[in-house]
Amino acid sequence: MIKKAVFLISNTDHTKCPEPNKPEFAFIGRSNVGKSSLINMLTGNSKLAKTSGRPGKTQLINHFLVDDKWYMVDLPGYGFAKVSKSIKDTWGKMIMDYLSARENLVALMVLIDSRLEPQKIDLEFITWCGENDIPFVLLFTKSDKQSKSRTKENVNRFLNAAFEIFQDKPQHYITSATSGEGKEEVVAFIEELVSE
Ligand code: GDP
Repeated sequence: MIKKAVFLISNTDHTKCPEPNKPEFAFIGRSNVGKSSLINMLTGNSKLAKTSGRPGKTQLINHFLVDDKWYMVDLPGYGFAKVSKSIKDTWGKMIMDYLSARENLVALMVLIDSRLEPQKIDLEFITWCGENDIPFVLLFTKSDKQSKSRTKENVNRFLNAAFEIFQDKPQHYITSATSGEGKEEVVAFIEELVSE
């Protein structure tokens, strides 16, 4: 259980991020995937990350300190441009530099909208993570939006597409910021790695 989460700092430049002296878990996904809502749900703080209906608004690396033990990082969403193109532009450079420089990054949580069939942009992004040795976990979001069987169908399709790329199925969790599904599991996954 997360007891305390406090906002520390927002940056465009990873060299100005907090000293990498605590385990770090970063959250990323397409704009509007439900990242802010999930961060708020996991931390039990409805105002920690700003939720909005305005995609692509937050273009900063946001650091939060959780339980004085680990860093939670809210990264800017992708999806306003093709990843393969945008990884070469400002967004890409900032994220790529950050992801490769943070030696304390334990896992990147890549959020995937469970309402949708596999999206090219998400597959492109995890391919890029694989190529750059960024350890990632998939968090499927908004599971409350449709039936369990539809969620399962979309999740399986995504995992099969990922299998084609990695010859392996990435670790994954199904979540809902609305129902709280996945909260315990995701927090337990992180806390276990933090206590190692
Ligand atoms: P972000 O842009 O990825 O940070 O996405 P937000 O957290 O701002 O969410 C985008 C929209 O989806 C908002 O209207 C949220 O209320 C809605 N939303 C986010 N998560 C969930 C969820 O788990 N269930 C439902 N039903 N709606 C959600």
